[in-house]
Amino acid sequence: MTIATAATTSPRTTRRITGLTPSGRLQLGNLFGAIHPTVSDQHGTDTIVFVSDLHALTLDHDPRRLRAATLENAGLLLAAGLDPRRSVLYAQSGLPEHTELHYLLECATQYGEARRMIQFKEKSAGRAGVRLSLLTYPVLMAADILLHDIDEVPVGEDQSQHLELARDVAVRFNARYGKTFVVPRAVHPRLAARIMDLADPTRKMSKTGADAGTLFLLDPPDAIRRKVMRAVTDGEREVRYDPAAKPGVANLLEILAACLGEDPTRLAGGFSSYGQLKAAVVDAVCEVLRPIQARYGELARDPGYVQAVLAEGAARVHGRAQATVRRAREAIGLI
Ligand code: AMP
Repeated sequence: MTIATAATTSPRTTRRITGLTPSGRLQLGNLFGAIHPTVSDQHGTDTIVFVSDLHALTLDHDPRRLRAATLENAGLLLAAGLDPRRSVLYAQSGLPEHTELHYLLECATQYGEARRMIQFKEKSAGRAGVRLSLLTYPVLMAADILLHDIDEVPVGEDQSQHLELARDVAVRFNARYGKTFVVPRAVHPRLAARIMDLADPTRKMSKTGADAGTLFLLDPPDAIRRKVMRAVTDGEREVRYDPAAKPGVANLLEILAACLGEDPTRLAGGFSSYGQLKAAVVDAVCEVLRPIQARYGELARDPGYVQAVLAEGAARVHGRAQATVRRAREAIGLI
């Protein structure tokens, strides 16, 4: 690993970063795939979490909803156990160094590299009025990471290519202009459950999915019940964990397994009907969400609290971000 900063004579705790884009409301997949791993990591690593509101501007957006989702996502991270005394939590737009470094890194990235990104191809396909920022956001993502001398970035498969780009840009910049950035490495979190949409179990559950198939973290118990009881299954009756042949039932078993910390195949044997399985899923999801929703309710009573945490988080890392940008500016030849 390349350590570029001067003050690194003694080893420091591994630093990790995670961003959550407020492109919609957080859902169960975010909890199991991103929030829980981050909350448990914060005890052994120097953890930075940011709500990537700038990334939410790359697709059509509603300003009012973006503001609400930014605060809601941050509040839910805290409610789910992110400890602002231990970890840093801030909103990306609250640290202008992200955008300043973004531009400098754009000058070390080729157009062809950005155009090759699978996410760009997928998200722009068939869409009118594609925003230029959709093409360049992987470079902003590189800036998000390089800004903080990050050692490790937990990435799922869909973000691996972007992390590779961040590494390529860092290595290139360092080679051309002198050692400036820590080159981050990807870490692939222990395979957490991949939660699928309840109404279409061939698609991943997502923040931007239709309401019927998505279990939002702030859904009240009756909404959870309604959505789970209507979840798509199949024409058989046997409860068996077989994602290829029975994606709907397998997804319900995955959700139950993620809630209980158990194995889906083993759980399948305990149910004799789909109705019984669904009822167990409702109970388990409600049980997982209950404390998070209760804590979120407490936080929401003081509307200024979350904003204050975000501002304090940004203030804590501002000095380091400024130092990184200063290094990059000097290296690239700015006065
Ligand atoms: P997104 O909401 O798509 O920006 O995803 C943010 C992160 O949440 C991803 O990198 C995953 O780690 C996690 N995630 C989102 N949706 C799911 C899902 N359906 N199943 C498991 N993890 C998910």
